Amino acid sequence: MGHAVGDELLVAVSKRLQNLIREEDTLSRQGGDEFIIVLPSMKVDGAAHVSKKLLEAIEQPIGLMNNELFVTASIGIAMYPDDGQDMETLFKCADAAMYLAKQNGRNNFRFFTPEIQIRSSRNLAVENALRYAHTRGELQLHYQPQICLQSGNIVGVEALLRWTHPELGVVSPSEFIPIAEESGQILLIGEWVLKTAVTRMKQWIDMGYTPVTVSVNLSAVQFHHAHLSKLVTTILDEVKLPPWYLELELTESVAAQNPIRAIEIMNDLHQKGIRLSIDDFGTGYSSLSYLKRFKVYKLKIDQSFIRDLSIDPEDRAITVTIIALAKSLGLRVIAEGVETKEQLDFLRENGCDEVQGYYFSRPLNVDDFEKFIRNYAIKEQQ
Ligand code: C2E
Ligand code: MG
Ligand code: MG
Repeated sequence: MGHAVGDELLVAVSKRLQNLIREEDTLSRQGGDEFIIVLPSMKVDGAAHVSKKLLEAIEQPIGLMNNELFVTASIGIAMYPDDGQDMETLFKCADAAMYLAKQNGRNNFRFFTPEIQIRSSRNLAVENALRYAHTRGELQLHYQPQICLQSGNIVGVEALLRWTHPELGVVSPSEFIPIAEESGQILLIGEWVLKTAVTRMKQWIDMGYTPVTVSVNLSAVQFHHAHLSKLVTTILDEVKLPPWYLELELTESVAAQNPIRAIEIMNDLHQKGIRLSIDDFGTGYSSLSYLKRFKVYKLKIDQSFIRDLSIDPEDRAITVTIIALAKSLGLRVIAEGVETKEQLDFLRENGCDEVQGYYFSRPLNVDDFEKFIRNYAIKEQQ
């Protein structure tokens, strides 16, 4: 809504905060959307009580320039002298606690604890190490095949990021991707992933492998970055890979966060011939009326539903429903995390188009993936 509205909003929030604190307290804006409140002689109970009141005050609608705006806050609390003796230490502790409050769904408060300390120093170590990961060649892509149930052919491959640090060892993407998103490093890393995956697919096609789509995971930060579509087309042009061989995977929550904007971005990518799929489908809250307008090509059923297919009737019902939903919207549907023959049979019987999972193959490095493809082709011929 622009800077002017942003500034007004900050003023309105400051006033609400100011109304709730005492004469001897200090309120300051730290920068951006962060505030610090110093409450002298306050015990734990009091701090929790004040935090609740602050959260309640902030979540009331704010009327600004004919709009009703809704905002929420996340609060981190550090106690003097237990958590720190000086401002800098206390600030760091409060910041780490706030980070956790945000991760836990926002609109709540957290006290600093030693566990947070451990977690936040690990986060910091990961964040620092990540800064050099791609220039030092510590990043790698692994590839996992996607198989069409009707033809039995490999029809796609998902590129999955791997990071091995000399001291930290193998760090899982579920740990470092959120950190890279928070610190903004995901933009550079994501660009490296796109370039590497697209280049690899071009090489495979040039080597004579049957052309298939390569799927690349996109984070929210990348998706909402102004130059995404330009970046993608530039890479495709440079590498000379036709756009229909690239598929971008968005998680459901990314698309659902700001659907109107998401539709614009998707339309733009779609016009350029790039395919989009919705990853981890069924775990977010996407509105069906928006789903209809999203220019997506494929839904990926989240692996949490596939895992217990053989024992959980609800997961079976959800899986069947997602398949039916995809069919009626004219989308393709793939199941992730397929590990067993029973899961595969169930999916086949219920008309799922594609599958991906350990049953066929784990994500493999380039050499192993090439071996896998050659063996797979030989088995097909037999
Ligand atoms: P995702 O995109 O939903 O990827 C599927 C995850 O399930 C991968 O975990 C994959 O290794 C794992 N998987 C595949 N088949 C099976 C199976 O049969 N059983 C089980 N238990 N797991 C299976 P991974 O590689 O650890 O990646 C985790 C997540 O990290 C990904 O979830 C994705 O959201 C994110 N990620 C990975 N690479 C990238 C990337 O290059 N960029 C971005 N933004 N995110 C990435
Ligand atoms: Mg994915
Ligand atoms: Mg997934």
